This record gives sequence, structure tokens and C-alpha cells, in this order.
Amino acid sequence: MVESISLAGLRTGCSFATLPRGFYAQVDPRPLREPRLLHANPDAAALIGLDAAALRSPDFLALCAGSGRLADIPPLATAYSGHQFGVWAGQLGDGRAHLLGDVQTPAGVWEIQLKGSGRTPYSRMGDGWAVLRSSVREYLASEAMAGLGIPTTRALALVASSDPVVRETVETAAVVTRLAPSFVRFGHFEHWSHSHHEQQALLDYVVEHWYPDCRDRVGGETDPSTMACRMLAAVARRTARLMAQWQLVGFCHGVMNTDNMSILGLTLDYGPYGFMDAFQADHICNHSDTAGRYAWNAQPAVARWNLYRLAGSLRVLGCEVPALESSLASFEADFLAAYRDGLARKLGLDAWRADDAELEEGWWGLLHAQRADFTLAFRRLADVDRDADAWLALFADPEPARAWLDRYRVRLAEQGGDADARRIAMRQVNPVYVLRNHLAQRAIEAAQQGDATEIDRLLTVLRDPYTERPGFECYACPPAAGEPVVPVSCSS
Ligand code: AMP
Ligand code: MG
Repeated sequence: MVESISLAGLRTGCSFATLPRGFYAQVDPRPLREPRLLHANPDAAALIGLDAAALRSPDFLALCAGSGRLADIPPLATAYSGHQFGVWAGQLGDGRAHLLGDVQTPAGVWEIQLKGSGRTPYSRMGDGWAVLRSSVREYLASEAMAGLGIPTTRALALVASSDPVVRETVETAAVVTRLAPSFVRFGHFEHWSHSHHEQQALLDYVVEHWYPDCRDRVGGETDPSTMACRMLAAVARRTARLMAQWQLVGFCHGVMNTDNMSILGLTLDYGPYGFMDAFQADHICNHSDTAGRYAWNAQPAVARWNLYRLAGSLRVLGCEVPALESSLASFEADFLAAYRDGLARKLGLDAWRADDAELEEGWWGLLHAQRADFTLAFRRLADVDRDADAWLALFADPEPARAWLDRYRVRLAEQGGDADARRIAMRQVNPVYVLRNHLAQRAIEAAQQGDATEIDRLLTVLRDPYTERPGFECYACPPAAGEPVVPVSCSS
């Protein structure tokens, strides 16, 4: 018997179910065996109006363990397709995710989705499960990105179980409950590339809910191809900004397939992602990505490539190629504007000037050549007037670092301004804590013993990563020399 859960009067619905039947399958999650609420996230809960008491209720555990329904809403798995590693992969879909419905709040709508909750008609060869290891990683990364101010899906709860799951070894199953205004992906549009009626329905749905400005305000119906091009341009703008934000914190997604690209410009589907420790421009975080398609320095270009696949799927609506191309024409300029603006702030520059490109190249070249720590190199630069030695200590050979610093100081002297104000501003945009792989790994190993205190401690620093906390110094440190590197791959 599936229980219907109201969770203290939330205003619930399921807008995705208004789409034609081909968009989804109604399918119940498979309840986890011996479910245990390993962690619940009060920050995400507050977004949908749940308080701490609600998170402790048996109803909440049932919902997040796959044994309850949100109100009486039938859970859905949605259909999508996509390009994986540059190749058309055909139909994919929610193979292990269930959309429970959405919650309307004064600040907007949040969909609630379970991930790792059992097989669906889109599971293909998969078992429908997610292992605890990858679920902890998704849970932590969502909140790390939110703390950094980067658009992302959110993580509401993490439920562990005793269900065995076979990967390289036998592990146990877990479910992450995620929140997002929408989980629609580029791949949802690609799925309907040859179906005018469905593509139009999807466009209408996405525009109505999230891109209302793409419709003409007056004068009746907007032509679908015009609306599609406007939406594409808006998605491209959001994606360009997202790429700038990823680059500036050293985040590598790892699997930027078109089915993992959010139509809202959110970071979506955390798998073999990584925040860089030692900077390497062509760093590959995913061990399954042997060719480096999704290396750090490839991400903005891949995003653009993915936007072209989205554009192609809109042709069925009668969009002409030149119109689609012109919707994407400013992607590079938008990316560069956001990236340069962000980099200028991180370096404490008053604005980006044309001749700052040399300083920029010198910066990345220095970090790359010496494999300096990405996060600390920026953070300690804020304090370089007071403690240049701490910054220089990040470089095995301090001479090239000193030479760069000399140029940087000339640049700062040219702009003038108050050094203390600059230092404070730089500390507000250069995190001291990021979700380094070895920190996530410690939290995973504790969670595998049933201990969530490391998850909790990590979230404490990650939710406000710009503020140093006494007692949490080791969370700012790179892995110790010789600490085994944790390989992350598509196995999840
Ligand atoms: P991902 O690489 O996680 O983005 O997943 C690509 C596709 O494979 C999506 O359609 C997923 O739903 C599906 N998938 C991944 N893992 C599983 C699994 N264990 N069971 C069923 N489907 C899965
Ligand atoms: Mg995915």
C-alpha cells in the first residue's frame, strides 16, 4: 500500500503531468529496504516550506525512501534522449529517477525528484539503483555549489539502506531527494526532434513556466519558431554564465552530455565531477573520459556544442538555421564577459581592461606549470600584501610567482584604491572551502559505517565557503602529498 503524504499542508501539484502522455511513464519508486535517513538538509527544506520538525517525521522518511506519495500524485519517470560523449545515444530518460510532484511556494515552484529509486521503463540495462558513494557525492556537491552561489539542483535528503547493489564491488543503495524548479534537460527537446506536436507542447510548457518573456506580451499568439529562438537565446545566456562560474571555481562536471544539461542553466546530475586541487588546464576529472572531451578547459566549448544540439532539435518547429545560429551568436561574448568580470573580481581588479589578458595568461600559466592549488592560489592572493610568503609557498619554484606578483602589483598600483577594501572584496569571491575529492571521500567512508557527522561538518563549511571557521582548518587544505587519489568514474 502506498501512503499519501501531505507534509503539513504543502501546496502540491505536478505540472509536468500536463504534458502529453508520451512525455512520461507513471511508475512507483521501489521502496528501499531498511531505510535510514542519513541526512536531511534544512536549507533545501526551507525552500519548500518544511521546518526541522517535518524533516524528523516518519512521513518525510517514507517520502524520501520511495514508499510514500506526495499528496496523491502519481510518480513519473520522464522521457528524454541525448548525445553522450559527442555521439547520438537515442532514448535515455529517467532510468532511476522518479518525479514525485511539485510544491508551490511564494518564491516559485520546486519539483521533488528521487534519484536511485528503482527501475522505470527508461532503465534500459540499468538496475535503477544508485550506490551510497555516488549519492553522498551528489548530496554534498549540490549544496557546495549552492553555497558558492552557482545555479544548481538542490539536495533535500539522503536515505541509506541495506539493499545490495553490484558495481565493481557490492555496495549498498541510497536515494537522494533533489529539488529544482524543473528537471527539463536539453535532451527532453532532443527527444522530440522529429515530432512537431510534442516539441511545440514542450516549448509552450517551458516558456510558460520559466521563460515567459519569450512570448509577445500583446498581439495574440507568438509564432512558435520565434518563441523557440528566443528561448534558445535565453538558455544560451544562462549556460554561458554557468560555464563562467564553473571555470572560476575550478569545477569540472565530468559528463557534460546533452542529457545532463539543464534547460534552466542549473548544474545538474553530479557524477564523476571534481573541484580541482592542483591546477591543470586540461584536467580530466572523470576516469571514464579517456579522450578528455570534458576536461576543464573544454567545458565552455562543449556547452556551446550542446547548445547547437538543442538548436537542431528546434528545427522541427520551423526555425530556420540562420535564426537559430543568431540565437547562439553571442554565447562566446556572454561567456567571456561573465568570465572576465568574475576573474577581475577574484583578482581584485577594478574592471577588466583589454591589456589584462596578459596578466590572466600569466596567472593560469603559472598555476598550471607548478600545479599550484586552484582554490588557495586565489584565496591567499587576497592577503598577499600582509603575507606574501603564504601565497608564494604554494609554488615549488617561487621565482616565476614573484615575477607575476611584481606585474600584478603594478596593475593594482595603477588602479589605486583602498587595499583593505580590496582584500575584503576578494575574500568574498574567493572561497576558502570547496568540495575537494578527498573530503568527499572521508564523508563517504564514514557514511558507509552509518556515520553522517562528516557530511554534516562538510555542509557547515560548504554552505558559507567564503568565511573561515575556527576548528575547520583541515577542510581548507589540499590532500596531503602521497594521499591516494580517489578515482571517480561513471560508475554510480
Ligand atoms: P548519467 O550518465 O548518470 O547521466 O545517466 C545516463 C542515462 O543512464 C540516464 O538515462 C540515466 O537514467 C541512466 N542510468 C544511469 N544509471 C542507471 C541505473 N543504475 N539504472 C538505470 N538507469 C541508469
Ligand atoms: Mg544524467
